[in-house]
Amino acid sequence: MSESVSVLDPARRDDFAPTVITWHQHRGRHDLPWQRSRDPYRIWLSEIMLQQTQVATVIPYFERFVTQFPSVTELAAAPLERVLELWSGLGYYSRARNLHAAACLIASRFQGVFPSEVSALETLPGVGRSTAGAIAAFGFGVSAPILDANVKRVLARWVALDGPLEASANQTKLWEIASELVPRAGVQAYTQGLMDLGALVCRARDPDCPICPLNRGCAAYAQGLTAQIPAAKSTRPKARRRATLLVLHHHGSILLRRRVGPGVWEGLWSLPQWDAPDARDEAIACARHYGKPDTILRWRSLEHEFTHYRLEADIYAIDLAGRIHEERGAKVAELWIDLAQAQGAALPAPIKRLLIGLYRASPMHRGDAQVHLNP
Ligand code: SF4
Repeated sequence: MSESVSVLDPARRDDFAPTVITWHQHRGRHDLPWQRSRDPYRIWLSEIMLQQTQVATVIPYFERFVTQFPSVTELAAAPLERVLELWSGLGYYSRARNLHAAACLIASRFQGVFPSEVSALETLPGVGRSTAGAIAAFGFGVSAPILDANVKRVLARWVALDGPLEASANQTKLWEIASELVPRAGVQAYTQGLMDLGALVCRARDPDCPICPLNRGCAAYAQGLTAQIPAAKSTRPKARRRATLLVLHHHGSILLRRRVGPGVWEGLWSLPQWDAPDARDEAIACARHYGKPDTILRWRSLEHEFTHYRLEADIYAIDLAGRIHEERGAKVAELWIDLAQAQGAALPAPIKRLLIGLYRASPMHRGDAQVHLNP
């Protein structure tokens, strides 16, 4: 791969921000729900939701959150359980836990007012340098650089960066470039424009270089390297984790248990789980604790990709006959819930999909009297 082009070339550097700002005025996105105000709370909320999630997916979640919690102090005052319920389905649940922890910190340490300095914003749980830069830029007009995944790709191509983005030398270099390019005026339009260019034009696959406003100064375009930059990540196969899940069913209700941490589903409701494949005996023993197992079947399997591993679970479905024993009390971390209502609980997305499928396939959904767990 050829040499990187220096970003210190004054003509290229000075042309960059005005080009992005002008493009944003005519071609950028102006109607996203979080763009309707400069409220740092809404900006922070959208930035956290947009980490690892597409705009179209985020919009309804964002609308629900700001309706339910119109301010950071109202979010801080809410129980974490309610926050997780609203987040359910958006994935990467540590974001929701951090969101709540950060809201509590803003309420207590900053008297409910967002700080405007990047260094103070970075002290909030779940807020890294790029997110802090975006909040400072959008909320307070601070000339702070950002470097989210889309922006990294644009800059890496624009300078024809050599090597993988994740390499620490490249991370340092990209931050230097981003800092050098950020303008003193018009930082909101510039930041949004750069994000939009990455999302709409300089796409990961198939960038639309002929219509790109940066194409005249883009090193990757000039050198025919847009398909090679950014360099592909080395893909190591993910570790596999095996588990067994149990759908324990009694007259239209199922048993959910709250997951204790640490772990990706910490604080969420889920099905009883054993971290071993085909744990049929454990599932039956668990069912006997609550009542008399009637039908027992190996229902189906579940596969789900996490960032660092792949979960493969066997699912058993057990119907209980007669009366059931229910644990009661405020500290009990389990819940018998109507299958139709379970979908509204704070569930991990794959479990929610599983229960929605189960409900839709059930005679109860069709108006019949009894639910059968057979798929
Ligand atoms: S010219 Fe192509 S590669 Fe360069 S920034 Fe624009 S879209 Fe990306």
